[in-house]
Amino acid sequence: MDLSHPICLDPIDHLRSAQPDLPVLYFCPEALRATARRFLDTFPGVVSYAIKCNDRDEVLATIAAEGVQVFDVASPPEMRAVRAVAPQAVLHYNNPVRSRLEIAEAVRLNVRSYSVDSVSELEKLIELVPAEGTEIAVRFKLQVEGAAYDFGAKFGAEPKMAVALLRRVVEAGFEPAMTFHPGTQCTDPEAWREYISVAARVAEDAGVTLARLNVGGGFPADRGTGEHVPQLEQTIAVIEDAVATNFATAPVLVCEPGRAMVAESYALALRVKAMRSDGAVFLNDGIYGTLAEALLLGTLKRITYLGADGTPLVGERVNRTVFGPTCDSVDMLPGGLDVPADLAEGDHLLFHGTGAYTVVTACRFNGYGDPQNVTVAQLYR
Ligand SMILES: *Cc1c(COP(=O)(O)O)cnc(C)c1O
Repeated sequence: MDLSHPICLDPIDHLRSAQPDLPVLYFCPEALRATARRFLDTFPGVVSYAIKCNDRDEVLATIAAEGVQVFDVASPPEMRAVRAVAPQAVLHYNNPVRSRLEIAEAVRLNVRSYSVDSVSELEKLIELVPAEGTEIAVRFKLQVEGAAYDFGAKFGAEPKMAVALLRRVVEAGFEPAMTFHPGTQCTDPEAWREYISVAARVAEDAGVTLARLNVGGGFPADRGTGEHVPQLEQTIAVIEDAVATNFATAPVLVCEPGRAMVAESYALALRVKAMRSDGAVFLNDGIYGTLAEALLLGTLKRITYLGADGTPLVGERVNRTVFGPTCDSVDMLPGGLDVPADLAEGDHLLFHGTGAYTVVTACRFNGYGDPQNVTVAQLYR
């Protein structure tokens, strides 16, 4: 089946006719194509897609066809997933900790770009990876605000250590690069400026001219929480300005968005299974399924409430406790939701902007968490 061929006009059209009892994930290829083009047209360098946030074939194939040729992967299964869909794709292996077998598999798959944040892992790469034509990017971290949670808690060398790593990369004959990730859902473009200025200092202290600088992912999506979300163009303008200000010889830039590439190309329809007599709402998916990120980032609040017949519910709002379908009490949306007072069993909740970190983190706990997939021509009407 051609997954990119729309089978419905839009989600409401489908909900009205199908009355699905299970969660439905609507994919709009045209929305994804538009975002891929926006990244390719705006970012002054290489656009790589971090496949962990949505590794579906339909996503990989759509953005590859649009011109994204580089993919950020963290494991051999992710490498194989990309190559199955885009055999010519360039792979950047940016999980800084790898087993020897994983490294061997990457070499076999002709991976030529690796990131690293520690001496032990760098020595492993030097031992196992041929240096010729291969890049090693030193990943560093800073204490900066702006992201939804702190990626530096797990990966990234302190700047001082990064200097030593960078020198060793050059000494071992690899192409020197640097990389950072400001943290996912980073709504403050100034975080990039700070990282870029430190990258320039680290390279200078190491006496190394960087071939490339990878400015990570972290580009934010609108989660409907009322927080200001900068436009992609705004963040990229700060990146360009910071590179021009801090580098005498500008390195080739790489970005590796996950969330911002794919978030807007999906919508998710859930159904009210029950309105319990105490007022609690029970949905057909939750924390163990496509709404797993709610625990980390708060609940995605871009929701259209629809009656069973697809008519928008526009009544006064009341805050209600909202549970997912499993028997675990963790399966509850933090803070509940402000739902229309007349919300009833059988009604639908259409969540917008659900392409990232939804299907990939969903598990099958209690037999739930496996949405139906529908391709649509448009997500909004
Ligand atoms: C997860 C990840 C990304 C993508 O992050 P987003 O916040 O989804 O844009 C990019 N690079 C690396 C190394 C990552 O681990």
